[in-house]
Amino acid sequence: MIVTIDEPTFRESVDLMVDRAMSVMGLDDGTATAIKSCNAVLQVKFPVKIRGKFEVFTGWRATHSTHRLPSKGGIRYAPYADQDEVEALAALMTYKCAIVDVPFGGSKGALLIDPSQYERDELEMITRRFAHELVRKGFLSPSTNVPAPDVGTGQREMAWIADTYKHLHPEDINYIACVTGKPLHHGGIHGRVEATGRGVQYVLREFFRHPDDVKSANMLGTLTGKTCVIQGLGNVGYHAAKFLSEEDGVIITAVIERDGALINDKGINIEDLYNHIIDHGSITNFPGASLEVNGIAVLEKECDILIPAALERQITLENADRIQAKLIVEAANGPITYGADELLNKKGIIIIPDAFANAGGVTVSYFEWIRNISHIRLGRMQKRHDETQGLQMAAMLEELTGSKISDSFKKTVAHGADELDLVRSGLDDTMRTAYQQIRETLLSNENIHDFRTASYVTSITKIARSYLDVGIY
Ligand code: NAD
Repeated sequence: MIVTIDEPTFRESVDLMVDRAMSVMGLDDGTATAIKSCNAVLQVKFPVKIRGKFEVFTGWRATHSTHRLPSKGGIRYAPYADQDEVEALAALMTYKCAIVDVPFGGSKGALLIDPSQYERDELEMITRRFAHELVRKGFLSPSTNVPAPDVGTGQREMAWIADTYKHLHPEDINYIACVTGKPLHHGGIHGRVEATGRGVQYVLREFFRHPDDVKSANMLGTLTGKTCVIQGLGNVGYHAAKFLSEEDGVIITAVIERDGALINDKGINIEDLYNHIIDHGSITNFPGASLEVNGIAVLEKECDILIPAALERQITLENADRIQAKLIVEAANGPITYGADELLNKKGIIIIPDAFANAGGVTVSYFEWIRNISHIRLGRMQKRHDETQGLQMAAMLEELTGSKISDSFKKTVAHGADELDLVRSGLDDTMRTAYQQIRETLLSNENIHDFRTASYVTSITKIARSYLDVGIY
């Protein structure tokens, strides 16, 4: 992480960006402060016996807002986590949910731990103990506070958390909805693992449906053939890079990871690289791309689209001036500091901000939560009905035209939507609608010049309305 001493912290950066939006809106000070304040922060310290000795772990859960319930946000496991970061991430969740019309407040959690240093059974004990603390202190339940995966956590941790809650509250019929991002056989939903990366793809597709926006980023044409540098090939980065390259013809010219960067101007095969990382635990010795040891410098490589998908504070006042991308899509949370954001705006680089760009995860978490509290898989009631109707339609067309319809067309019209189809369709619609709302805000106010400010204005307008409707108490 590049840390520039005189730059604001992550939380201060988010607040400054929000202040910029609030000043454009002319929001009164009282409402502005109520929206910006973090409602509650819990810090826990708990001992777990590891390899015969007690270790004390520190964790946080911040609830930024409760104007909608439950409050929602991931839990990360990282050796660098701190309260400032958790509060910043919780605030981003508030704004993010409002942008994509997910009726949740904002929350976030972290455990100060390097998960790679622990065995599976040890991580299970630590996770269950952390979940126990969160439940006991009122920071985890299906109706008030619902975590999800983030950096360093995944389906496995979510299943342990759900199981811990169930043991503490067996009478809660909705216990499985206390956390999202669970494995499929433990109440998860199809499409959640890929959701954030898929959302990034849908955002980019929508951006390229607006020729004026493409032109404002000094590009022309479609997404196909555009060059892209991506930082982080974890859950979010891998799915975004995979879908963009395999389905939209985007050329991934560089992948930056913690141990360097791989470069190939003709394009890197993401599935091959992903398998190489799984097999070797590193990007080194990957055939078909050259290795640059100083990975972070590759953020400055010339490209059409730059997708930071790893960590916060990667583009700072130290390197912002050397960034050559035309469009930056913030798949990670907070990858650009406030100062760097201002500088990149002046340079004319278009930034699709985190609060919108990576909202695919929380959107599909919302679908999972709905699935859990309604106790039924999406599409279960209508799939066969839709298939029958499709087949009847095909038969009627054959009868009316007197010609035979091809089997492949019949298969298409007679395909009833399954859960994955519905999730992808709901996510696509959500990201498109949000983009159009943000764009409308951007074009309708001459004091707004960038997508980030437009996103925050769109979001804060909705949050302020909900505060004013019910009153602040
Ligand atoms: P992850 O742990 O699965 O992946 C992170 C990746 O970044 C890993 O491959 C890791 O090796 C790499 N990385 C770590 N340090 C790096 C460095 N210094 N340089 C380059 N690469 C580095 O995490 P994730 O879930 O993919 O999350 C990535 C980002 O996306 C985070 O900012 C997270 O908050 C955000 N996000 C995640 C989700 C989600 O659904 N998982 C949703 C919204 C936002």
